[in-house]
Amino acid sequence: MVIVKTAREISTMMDACRISANALCVAGEYVKPGVTTWEIDRRVREYIEKQGATPSFLDYGGFPASACISVNNVVIHGIPSKKQVLKEGDIVSVDVGAFYNGFHGDNAYTFPCGKVSESAQALMDATRISLEKGIEAALAGNRVGDIGNAVQTYVEARGYSVVRDFVGHGVGAKLHEDPSVPNYGRAGRGVRLLPGMTIAIEPMVCEGSYEVEVLEDEWTTVTVDGKLAAHYENTIAVTPDGPKILTVAG
Ligand code: MG
Repeated sequence: MVIVKTAREISTMMDACRISANALCVAGEYVKPGVTTWEIDRRVREYIEKQGATPSFLDYGGFPASACISVNNVVIHGIPSKKQVLKEGDIVSVDVGAFYNGFHGDNAYTFPCGKVSESAQALMDATRISLEKGIEAALAGNRVGDIGNAVQTYVEARGYSVVRDFVGHGVGAKLHEDPSVPNYGRAGRGVRLLPGMTIAIEPMVCEGSYEVEVLEDEWTTVTVDGKLAAHYENTIAVTPDGPKILTVAG
């Protein structure tokens, strides 16, 4: 069941989204060679808790950390670790959510660690822009398939692929609400977008094949071919005036 929010609820939700966006900025400040992913997670958690908010992902389905930190061929759900030391050239996808005043915000960004290869940068750029394309398609009256189609079309034209096994989602009082928001699909198909819907659009884009597998820890999701993946995400609201990004730092 799709939950449509009032303007007042969306306004409240913007606080959680701002905290999430700021937490992502905190993570970005620590993405540098020699830093462990555990350290980044700790800084993120400290920031969120200092705002009086709760990390959305901590203990969610048993996830052991506040941020998912996914390096290089890890697509999503990487578990922060003291053993994982970032090195020059890594691409580091951080996904973080915060729960505050009854609502969640959810966002992700792939950060370069130091100087990255041209091909890695191109993948990151394409993924970031595909998120913008997806957001632009999130117009009231459009359908969920219009978002996926916009992302997929942009990504595939550049020779990349979009993950099928994981998708974006509604977000609000619960971290994952209806509808599912795939990053692929046919224009004009799927759930109709209504003003007041709040959704997380999150393209996961692979340099090679979109096939992924989940490792034995039941979280870490990697590309089967071992090639790079990038992941960007915003929480947005569908409004009568067009899509509004809620996960804005400030
Ligand atoms: Mg999400």
